[in-house]
Amino acid sequence: MNPIIAEVLERFLRYVKIHTASSDEPDAGHPSTACQWDLLRLLEEELRDLGLSEINLSDAGVLTAVLPANVDGEAGSIPTIAYLAHVDTYPGTPGKDVKPNIIENYDGLDIVLPGTGKLLRVADNQDLANYKGETVITTDGTTLLGADDKAGVAAIMTLLSHLTTNADIPRCRLKVAFTPDEEIGQGTANFPPLDEFGATAAYTIDGGPEGEVENETFSADTAIVKLIGKDVHPGYAKNKMVSAVRAAAHLIDLLPRDALPESTEGMEGYLHPLQINGDVNEVVVPFLVRDFELAALKDWEARLEGLLRQTEEAFPGLRCEMTVQHSYKNMRYYLDKEPRAATLALEAVKRAGMVPVLQAIRGGTDGSRLSEMGLPTPNLFGGGRNFHSVEEWIPLSAMGKAVHMLIELTRLWASEKV
Ligand SMILES: [Zn+2]
Repeated sequence: MNPIIAEVLERFLRYVKIHTASSDEPDAGHPSTACQWDLLRLLEEELRDLGLSEINLSDAGVLTAVLPANVDGEAGSIPTIAYLAHVDTYPGTPGKDVKPNIIENYDGLDIVLPGTGKLLRVADNQDLANYKGETVITTDGTTLLGADDKAGVAAIMTLLSHLTTNADIPRCRLKVAFTPDEEIGQGTANFPPLDEFGATAAYTIDGGPEGEVENETFSADTAIVKLIGKDVHPGYAKNKMVSAVRAAAHLIDLLPRDALPESTEGMEGYLHPLQINGDVNEVVVPFLVRDFELAALKDWEARLEGLLRQTEEAFPGLRCEMTVQHSYKNMRYYLDKEPRAATLALEAVKRAGMVPVLQAIRGGTDGSRLSEMGLPTPNLFGGGRNFHSVEEWIPLSAMGKAVHMLIELTRLWASEKV
């Protein structure tokens, strides 16, 4: 076996067996679960064994380290590039006692998950059969696998190991960061200050199939809608009561059916009523507003305003208010300021022998937050499929390709200037 493939496999299998689910309980602390320290401390030790410098594991569980550049250049002119992966796994699916099911020389047929007897079907996994004859890793069917994002962790660690033993490969200054709690949206909550972190660009290695580079995320607002009615004793309510509960139901019913999360895909935006909270007097409905174009969020919000006015007309005496909170902006707007972040990634994918696929994520990532804070951070593939599921799987070759992509990307940045 190719030594890079052998190493990334060995690391991956070790890391996925360590339970690192985060917790979405409120006020769970940082990290949200103590078990994430097990992997963070192991990685800290392994970074030390690899001889990295400036190793730091913060009180909040963010592990960072540096591999110095090996190319000549004037002080301050060699770029620092950061590779990021998260150590936690999704809390909604069991992630303890992961038993990886390694299928060598896969026959291209449905796979029986040995812990449950259930099938991982080729019919539901369009590209599974493409790996006929290769090694595919699933779980036993009782847990998730945790390729999200331990495939990313294993790829970065294997890269570092390869670069330290092959000093002839030109490299820029590399910074790595392993973060907790990405799955609960807290991945960047305790990230070091960016001026201190000091990178020209960063990459999360947290994506799916080989070749994918994600440089777009949704732009996101939350529109908090308040419907204010009038409560009266129901026995004497005739022509007096204005029910905010019924008005909310009416409003929800007015929503365009073709503009909901469950009816959109690709580059389409949506309005998503997330919750309904309240009583006859007052109901509050937070709406997620999502679109890839920032300007289009305003259109969605105007459309929603229109529905509020219609609801007021249908319920005389009702008052509707809407306040908009900004969540995040499409990463693309920030990446435009450092176009090399995406272009070099696409070139690295090509050099590693794949067809690059530029993609948009129908969500936000740690990278969207970091990009907004000033560190351009596209997302690169790690190779896993069916994230957050007991049907999670990953082809071994994809993990090897992720390492090769990172080697090429590091090499490409080595010949750039800040
Ligand atoms: Zn992830």
